[in-house]
Amino acid sequence: MIICDYHNHTSFSPDSTAAPESMIEQAIRSGLKMICMTDHMDPDYPYPDYDFTFDVNKYFKKHEELRARYGNQITLYTGIELGLQPGIKNELIKLSDEWDWDFVIGSSHLVDHMDPYFPEYWQDKSDYSGILRYFETILENVTEFDNIDVYGHIDYIVRYAPAKAANYSYQKYAEILDEVLKTLISKNIGLELNTAGFKYGLGFPNPHTDILKRYKELGGEILTIGSDGHKPEHLAYDFQKVPDILKECGFEYYTIFKKRQPEFIKV
Ligand SMILES: [Zn+2]
Ligand SMILES: [Zn+2]
Repeated sequence: MIICDYHNHTSFSPDSTAAPESMIEQAIRSGLKMICMTDHMDPDYPYPDYDFTFDVNKYFKKHEELRARYGNQITLYTGIELGLQPGIKNELIKLSDEWDWDFVIGSSHLVDHMDPYFPEYWQDKSDYSGILRYFETILENVTEFDNIDVYGHIDYIVRYAPAKAANYSYQKYAEILDEVLKTLISKNIGLELNTAGFKYGLGFPNPHTDILKRYKELGGEILTIGSDGHKPEHLAYDFQKVPDILKECGFEYYTIFKKRQPEFIKV
Protein backbone atom coordinates (compact mmCIF):
# COMPACT_ATOMS: atom_id res chain seq x y z
CA MET A 1 0.00 0.00 0.00
CA ILE A 2 1.15 3.51 -0.80
CA ILE A 3 1.17 5.40 2.50
CA CYS A 4 1.30 9.02 1.36
CA ASP A 5 -0.26 11.40 -1.16
CA TYR A 6 2.28 14.01 -2.27
CA HIS A 7 0.16 16.07 -4.65
CA ASN A 8 -3.24 17.48 -3.77
CA HIS A 9 -5.10 20.76 -3.45
CA THR A 10 -7.40 22.54 -1.03
CA SER A 11 -9.36 25.78 -1.12
CA PHE A 12 -6.06 27.68 -1.04
CA SER A 13 -6.14 26.83 -4.77
CA PRO A 14 -8.82 28.62 -6.83
CA ASP A 15 -9.82 25.39 -8.59
CA SER A 16 -10.67 23.63 -5.32
CA THR A 17 -13.37 24.29 -2.74
CA ALA A 18 -12.18 21.57 -0.36
CA ALA A 19 -11.51 22.71 3.18
CA PRO A 20 -8.04 21.54 4.23
CA GLU A 21 -9.75 19.75 7.17
CA SER A 22 -11.90 17.72 4.76
CA MET A 23 -8.81 16.58 2.85
CA ILE A 24 -6.88 15.56 5.92
CA GLU A 25 -9.88 13.72 7.39
CA GLN A 26 -10.29 11.80 4.13
CA ALA A 27 -6.57 11.00 4.15
CA ILE A 28 -6.96 9.52 7.64
CA ARG A 29 -10.03 7.53 6.57
CA SER A 30 -8.19 6.09 3.58
CA GLY A 31 -5.39 4.87 5.82
CA LEU A 32 -2.64 7.20 4.61
CA LYS A 33 0.19 7.78 7.08
CA MET A 34 1.25 11.05 5.49
CA ILE A 35 -0.19 13.76 3.33
CA CYS A 36 1.69 16.58 1.68
CA MET A 37 -0.59 19.40 0.54
CA THR A 38 0.67 21.17 -2.54
CA ASP A 39 -1.53 24.14 -3.34
CA HIS A 40 -1.14 26.05 -6.59
CA MET A 41 1.11 29.04 -6.99
CA ASP A 42 1.10 30.29 -10.57
CA PRO A 43 2.17 33.93 -10.53
CA ASP A 44 1.45 35.70 -13.80
CA TYR A 45 -1.43 33.39 -14.74
CA PRO A 46 -2.89 35.17 -17.77
CA TYR A 47 -6.64 34.58 -17.27
CA PRO A 48 -8.18 37.27 -15.04
CA ASP A 49 -10.99 35.03 -13.75
CA TYR A 50 -8.49 32.94 -11.83
CA ASP A 51 -5.94 33.98 -9.26
CA PHE A 52 -3.62 31.03 -8.78
CA THR A 53 -1.72 32.53 -5.85
CA PHE A 54 -2.30 32.39 -2.11
CA ASP A 55 -1.16 34.02 1.11
CA VAL A 56 1.81 31.85 2.10
CA ASN A 57 1.83 33.08 5.67
CA LYS A 58 -1.81 32.06 6.11
CA TYR A 59 -1.06 28.70 4.51
CA PHE A 60 1.72 27.91 6.98
CA LYS A 61 -0.47 29.04 9.89
CA LYS A 62 -3.30 26.78 8.72
CA HIS A 63 -0.90 23.85 8.45
CA GLU A 64 0.34 24.46 12.01
CA GLU A 65 -3.27 24.41 13.17
CA LEU A 66 -3.91 21.14 11.29
CA ARG A 67 -0.78 19.54 12.73
CA ALA A 68 -1.91 20.44 16.24
CA ARG A 69 -5.37 19.00 15.61
CA TYR A 70 -4.61 15.85 13.56
CA GLY A 71 -0.94 15.20 14.34
CA ASN A 72 -1.64 12.06 16.36
CA GLN A 73 -3.48 10.51 13.40
CA ILE A 74 -1.47 11.56 10.36
CA THR A 75 1.67 13.49 9.46
CA LEU A 76 1.06 16.61 7.41
CA TYR A 77 3.82 18.05 5.24
CA THR A 78 3.74 21.48 3.69
CA GLY A 79 4.33 21.62 -0.02
CA ILE A 80 3.60 23.82 -2.98
CA GLU A 81 3.05 23.35 -6.71
CA LEU A 82 4.82 26.12 -8.58
CA GLY A 83 3.62 26.94 -12.09
CA LEU A 84 6.88 27.38 -13.97
CA GLN A 85 7.27 29.90 -16.75
CA PRO A 86 10.31 31.48 -18.25
CA GLY A 87 10.51 35.09 -17.12
CA ILE A 88 9.30 34.67 -13.53
CA LYS A 89 12.31 32.71 -12.38
CA ASN A 90 13.44 35.19 -9.69
CA GLU A 91 10.01 35.42 -8.13
CA LEU A 92 9.73 31.63 -7.93
CA ILE A 93 13.23 31.17 -6.55
CA LYS A 94 12.49 33.71 -3.85
CA LEU A 95 9.27 31.94 -2.97
CA SER A 96 10.83 28.51 -2.72
CA ASP A 97 13.89 29.72 -0.80
CA GLU A 98 12.25 32.08 1.69
CA TRP A 99 9.81 29.60 3.21
CA ASP A 100 10.32 26.39 5.08
CA TRP A 101 8.72 24.01 2.54
CA ASP A 102 8.90 20.26 2.88
CA PHE A 103 8.37 19.75 -0.82
CA VAL A 104 8.29 21.82 -4.00
CA ILE A 105 6.72 20.55 -7.23
CA GLY A 106 7.51 22.45 -10.41
CA SER A 107 4.84 22.07 -13.09
CA SER A 108 4.08 23.40 -16.53
CA HIS A 109 0.53 24.74 -16.70
CA LEU A 110 1.16 27.35 -19.36
CA VAL A 111 2.67 27.22 -22.80
CA ASP A 112 3.58 30.50 -24.45
CA HIS A 113 1.28 32.24 -21.96
CA MET A 114 -1.70 30.04 -22.86
CA ASP A 115 -3.30 27.31 -20.77
CA PRO A 116 -3.76 24.17 -22.90
CA TYR A 117 -6.75 23.39 -20.69
CA PHE A 118 -8.62 25.91 -22.87
CA PRO A 119 -9.51 25.04 -26.52
CA GLU A 120 -7.91 28.31 -27.68
CA TYR A 121 -4.47 26.71 -27.30
CA TRP A 122 -5.34 23.96 -29.80
CA GLN A 123 -6.95 26.20 -32.42
CA ASP A 124 -3.89 26.52 -34.64
CA LYS A 125 -2.12 23.31 -33.62
CA SER A 126 -2.37 19.62 -34.36
CA ASP A 127 -2.39 17.33 -31.34
CA TYR A 128 1.20 16.40 -32.20
CA SER A 129 2.50 19.95 -32.41
CA GLY A 130 0.56 21.12 -29.34
CA ILE A 131 2.01 18.30 -27.25
CA LEU A 132 5.50 18.76 -28.70
CA ARG A 133 5.44 22.49 -27.88
CA TYR A 134 4.47 21.60 -24.30
CA PHE A 135 7.49 19.30 -23.97
CA GLU A 136 9.74 21.98 -25.47
CA THR A 137 8.68 24.43 -22.79
CA ILE A 138 9.27 21.79 -20.11
CA LEU A 139 12.82 21.45 -21.40
CA GLU A 140 13.22 25.24 -21.29
CA ASN A 141 11.91 25.24 -17.71
CA VAL A 142 14.10 22.41 -16.43
CA THR A 143 17.10 24.03 -18.01
CA GLU A 144 16.29 27.28 -16.23
CA PHE A 145 15.00 26.13 -12.81
CA ASP A 146 17.09 24.22 -10.28
CA ASN A 147 15.33 24.55 -6.98
CA ILE A 148 12.37 22.21 -7.38
CA ASP A 149 12.16 18.69 -5.94
CA VAL A 150 10.17 16.99 -8.69
CA TYR A 151 8.65 17.92 -12.03
CA GLY A 152 4.86 17.52 -11.88
CA HIS A 153 2.65 15.49 -14.25
CA ILE A 154 5.08 15.63 -17.20
CA ASP A 155 2.62 14.67 -19.97
CA TYR A 156 -0.67 15.83 -18.46
CA ILE A 157 -1.34 18.01 -21.51
CA VAL A 158 -2.59 14.82 -23.20
CA ARG A 159 -5.73 15.11 -21.04
CA TYR A 160 -6.67 18.26 -22.92
CA ALA A 161 -5.58 17.37 -26.46
CA PRO A 162 -8.61 17.13 -28.80
CA ALA A 163 -8.02 13.40 -29.40
CA LYS A 164 -6.75 12.86 -25.84
CA ALA A 165 -4.25 9.97 -25.81
CA ALA A 166 -5.44 8.34 -29.05
CA ASN A 167 -2.31 9.31 -30.98
CA TYR A 168 0.05 9.74 -28.07
CA SER A 169 3.06 7.63 -27.13
CA TYR A 170 6.46 8.17 -25.51
CA GLN A 171 8.12 6.93 -28.72
CA LYS A 172 6.74 9.84 -30.77
CA TYR A 173 8.47 12.35 -28.50
CA ALA A 174 11.39 10.18 -27.37
CA GLU A 175 14.08 12.63 -28.42
CA ILE A 176 12.82 15.62 -26.46
CA LEU A 177 11.55 13.55 -23.53
CA ASP A 178 14.95 11.89 -23.15
CA GLU A 179 16.52 15.33 -23.02
CA VAL A 180 14.04 16.40 -20.33
CA LEU A 181 14.69 13.24 -18.28
CA LYS A 182 18.46 13.49 -18.59
CA THR A 183 18.39 17.14 -17.53
CA LEU A 184 16.22 16.32 -14.49
CA ILE A 185 18.50 13.47 -13.46
CA SER A 186 21.64 15.59 -13.86
CA LYS A 187 20.09 18.22 -11.57
CA ASN A 188 18.91 15.65 -9.03
CA ILE A 189 15.29 16.65 -9.66
CA GLY A 190 12.77 13.83 -9.49
CA LEU A 191 9.54 12.95 -11.23
CA GLU A 192 6.11 12.30 -9.86
CA LEU A 193 3.67 9.58 -10.68
CA ASN A 194 0.36 11.46 -10.89
CA THR A 195 -2.66 9.16 -10.81
CA ALA A 196 -5.07 11.78 -12.14
CA GLY A 197 -4.38 10.33 -15.60
CA PHE A 198 -6.66 7.44 -14.56
CA LYS A 199 -9.31 9.86 -13.37
CA TYR A 200 -9.25 11.54 -16.78
CA GLY A 201 -9.74 8.16 -18.47
CA LEU A 202 -6.33 8.03 -20.11
CA GLY A 203 -5.66 4.49 -18.86
CA PHE A 204 -2.20 5.45 -17.60
CA PRO A 205 -0.76 7.77 -14.98
CA ASN A 206 1.06 10.99 -15.88
CA PRO A 207 3.63 10.49 -17.06
CA HIS A 208 2.94 7.37 -19.12
CA THR A 209 4.56 4.20 -17.80
CA ASP A 210 6.88 4.17 -20.83
CA ILE A 211 8.32 7.48 -19.61
CA LEU A 212 8.65 6.15 -16.06
CA LYS A 213 10.50 3.10 -17.42
CA ARG A 214 12.81 5.30 -19.47
CA TYR A 215 13.49 7.56 -16.48
CA LYS A 216 14.54 4.51 -14.45
CA GLU A 217 16.63 3.18 -17.32
CA LEU A 218 18.50 6.51 -17.53
CA GLY A 219 19.28 6.35 -13.79
CA GLY A 220 16.32 8.23 -12.27
CA GLU A 221 15.47 7.19 -8.71
CA ILE A 222 13.39 9.98 -7.19
CA LEU A 223 9.68 9.35 -7.75
CA THR A 224 6.89 10.74 -5.59
CA ILE A 225 3.26 9.57 -5.75
CA GLY A 226 0.37 12.03 -5.94
CA SER A 227 -3.32 12.00 -6.82
CA ASP A 228 -3.59 15.69 -7.71
CA GLY A 229 -6.96 15.47 -5.97
CA HIS A 230 -8.89 18.73 -5.68
CA LYS A 231 -11.65 17.18 -3.54
CA PRO A 232 -11.64 14.60 -0.75
CA GLU A 233 -13.01 11.73 -2.87
CA HIS A 234 -10.11 12.11 -5.29
CA LEU A 235 -7.41 11.80 -2.68
CA ALA A 236 -5.17 8.73 -3.16
CA TYR A 237 -7.11 8.09 -6.39
CA ASP A 238 -6.41 4.61 -7.80
CA PHE A 239 -3.40 4.25 -5.49
CA GLN A 240 -4.13 0.51 -5.36
CA LYS A 241 -2.77 0.35 -8.94
CA VAL A 242 0.52 2.02 -8.05
CA PRO A 243 2.60 -0.80 -6.49
CA ASP A 244 2.25 -2.95 -9.64
CA ILE A 245 3.04 0.01 -11.89
CA LEU A 246 6.16 0.78 -9.87
CA LYS A 247 7.34 -2.81 -10.10
CA GLU A 248 6.57 -2.99 -13.81
CA CYS A 249 8.65 0.15 -14.35
CA GLY A 250 11.57 -1.15 -12.27
CA PHE A 251 11.12 0.90 -9.09
CA GLU A 252 11.64 -0.82 -5.75
CA TYR A 253 11.22 2.44 -3.86
CA TYR A 254 9.13 5.57 -4.02
CA THR A 255 10.04 8.89 -2.49
CA ILE A 256 8.80 11.32 0.10
CA PHE A 257 10.31 14.70 0.97
CA LYS A 258 10.78 16.29 4.39
CA LYS A 259 12.34 19.74 4.55
CA ARG A 260 13.26 19.33 0.87
CA GLN A 261 15.25 16.14 1.56
CA PRO A 262 14.25 12.89 -0.16
CA GLU A 263 13.59 9.70 1.79
CA PHE A 264 12.89 6.38 0.13
CA ILE A 265 10.10 3.97 1.02
CA LYS A 266 10.15 0.35 -0.13
CA VAL A 267 7.23 -0.60 -2.38
ZN1 LIG B 1 -0.53 20.85 -11.90
ZN1 LIG C 1 -1.87 19.95 -8.97
